[in-house]
Amino acid sequence: MARPRTTLTVQRTEQLTPHLIRVHFGGPGFAAFQPSEFSDSYVKFIFPRDGIEVLRTYTVRSVDPVAGELAADFVYHGAEGIAGPWAASVQPGETIDLYGPGGAYSPRADADWHLLAGDESALPAIAAALQAMDAAAVGHAFVEVAGPDDELALDKPAGVELTWLHRGDREPGDLLADAVRNTPWRDGRVQVFIHGEAKAVMHDLRRYIRRDRDVPAEWANSISGYWRRGRTEEGFREWKRDLAAEESTPAV
Ligand SMILES: Cc1cc2nc3c(=O)[nH]c(=O)nc-3n(C[C@H](O)[C@H](O)[C@H](O)COP(=O)(O)OP(=O)(O)OC[C@H]3O[C@@H](n4cnc5c(N)ncnc54)[C@H](O)[C@@H]3O)c2cc1C
Repeated sequence: MARPRTTLTVQRTEQLTPHLIRVHFGGPGFAAFQPSEFSDSYVKFIFPRDGIEVLRTYTVRSVDPVAGELAADFVYHGAEGIAGPWAASVQPGETIDLYGPGGAYSPRADADWHLLAGDESALPAIAAALQAMDAAAVGHAFVEVAGPDDELALDKPAGVELTWLHRGDREPGDLLADAVRNTPWRDGRVQVFIHGEAKAVMHDLRRYIRRDRDVPAEWANSISGYWRRGRTEEGFREWKRDLAAEESTPAV
């Protein structure tokens, strides 16, 4: 990820759903922010803690160059953690630094159909992708959220079906994995975008898409975990390193 550093000022916050808080950022620092062309554009917010910088990764939900603002949607997953509780209590006028943006995915106009899936953490990126698609695009998007009150109205092409899955007290990602596996597979070239709780995505869905459905990497390179149950973002990075080492070690 490119490392330009920007200081932004919180303009206002909005409680979008019981578990999603939109924070609007702007201020004099916005002029230095270079938006990315990707629909999964993300930044790393910097939280100073005990003399070190703790980073938390968030999708840029939208950029409004005229107003000089960007918005990011934070999942409020309880009192644990840094960024979720920060979004729930931050006040207009407070400043925060960030690195970025990075990004890699945008919906391709030459895809025959699109398959998108994710939980609340990927909802901002899925919403931005649906908004960026051609009006004629077709496909299916699955979003797993806690319950019916967590659904959001999304702008999307008429040909992209949107299915909300209500987790209730099930494990994160279980419903999503089943829904993706059970969706009828369409003909033609599919472009895939799947993010959310890491175990569900990395162990179940990546293998299903790449191996069972034989989707080539260039059409399915945006399948990864955004967070890991029981791990902070630092712990999740370690988990990914361990998993990568395990996957590259030949079985004896
Ligand atoms: C490219 C990218 C884009 C992302 N975009 C967004 C985004 O737009 N909005 C967003 O909310 N998140 C997004 N995430 C996920 C976000 O970075 C993580 O959820 C992060 O761990 C949140 O930090 P925290 O300080 O709130 O919690 P942490 O301190 O990292 O974790 C504290 C505890 O909360 C749990 N936890 C963390 N996230 C969740 C969650 N979503 N649901 C339930 N429990 C959780 C952890 O397992 C841990 O037990 C993105 C991640 C990536 C890699």
